Amino acid sequence: MGRVFNFSAGPSMLPEAVLKKAAADMLDYNGCGMSVMEMSHRTPEYEAIINGAEALLRELMNIPDNYKVLFLQGGASSQFAMIPLNLLKTGKADYVITGQWSKKAAQEAEKYGTVNRVASSADKTFSYIPKLDPATFDPEADYFHITFNNTIYGTRYTKLPDTGNVPIVADISSNALSEPIDVSKFGMLYAGAQKNMGPAGVTVVIIREDLIGHAKEGTPTMFDYQIHADNGSMYNTPPTYAIYILKMVLEWLKELGGIDAMHEINKKKAAILYDFLDSSKMFRGTVVKEDRSLMNVPFVTDSDELNAKFIKEAKAAGFVNLKGHRTVGGMRASIYNAMPVEGVEALVAFMKEFEKNN
Ligand SMILES: *Cc1c(COP(=O)(O)O)cnc(C)c1O
Repeated sequence: MGRVFNFSAGPSMLPEAVLKKAAADMLDYNGCGMSVMEMSHRTPEYEAIINGAEALLRELMNIPDNYKVLFLQGGASSQFAMIPLNLLKTGKADYVITGQWSKKAAQEAEKYGTVNRVASSADKTFSYIPKLDPATFDPEADYFHITFNNTIYGTRYTKLPDTGNVPIVADISSNALSEPIDVSKFGMLYAGAQKNMGPAGVTVVIIREDLIGHAKEGTPTMFDYQIHADNGSMYNTPPTYAIYILKMVLEWLKELGGIDAMHEINKKKAAILYDFLDSSKMFRGTVVKEDRSLMNVPFVTDSDELNAKFIKEAKAAGFVNLKGHRTVGGMRASIYNAMPVEGVEALVAFMKEFEKNN
């Protein structure tokens, strides 16, 4: 079997060029006579990789100098604890609840402080981003947490809340590198890499320097941003191979024209799919139009049976991982950076054919 069109929400597709390069490098990286996997992280060769990854990320995302870039482990889920452990001072934080991930983030923060849930879209299965009223924000909160793109429900913020001096902390696991993000508007951004940046195993944290160095007493060493910042993400062994792949993904992105160019392609891909969903008599999107994600596109038919039939036949035709999250049902097509336009066009052609035949 050749390569399929993989619509997985994560881990997800990687650019084929990156996988080929990794394959070519596998036994002998750059004349070192070994794989990157076998290499000490305390070597000049590896330092060039991790420093190169950071430099490229800074360049592509336009990260200001007063922000640290950290390559951590433990996934975005560990950040749910690291954030309150490091950022709480008054002990209070604001959270917007737009899905499972923000729910989990808020629950974890509650172990360490007081969480003010400023708004939620739970009433309509998280199919929209709630309108935010600054009167409900706590002006004394240590930070304001949002999930920028909601991987499971397929919503995204198009406008940031006005939080005044309260730093915004955003989970960008599923939209990092997909669209321009003005880093200076945030106190901190974080992402598990396995959606849009690279393989599972590395978690990227971009944090304003003044937010570092305030970890709660008793914070585990590995959960203290200061430790990682002071040691260039090498306090212990970093996820070396995942960072190496991330670096190649960033090189691929740069060659393609950077994040602005990628954003244009992503808008085009999303439009192909949403335009079809809006015109179809069988399929429909589940999210209000104005909050639709460019990355994760949930859709349904009116029948569970038809959904199951579609997923099965799509899989046989080479369109895999289209089953929706268990809390939404139906289908979800994740169309991250590595999904080519042709993949979305082919999916829509398949959906049209399915609609005609059923
Ligand atoms: C996948 C995902 C997570 C969880 O990431 P892990 O790296 O598995 O912990 C958190 N937030 C969002 C938005 C995600 O898409």
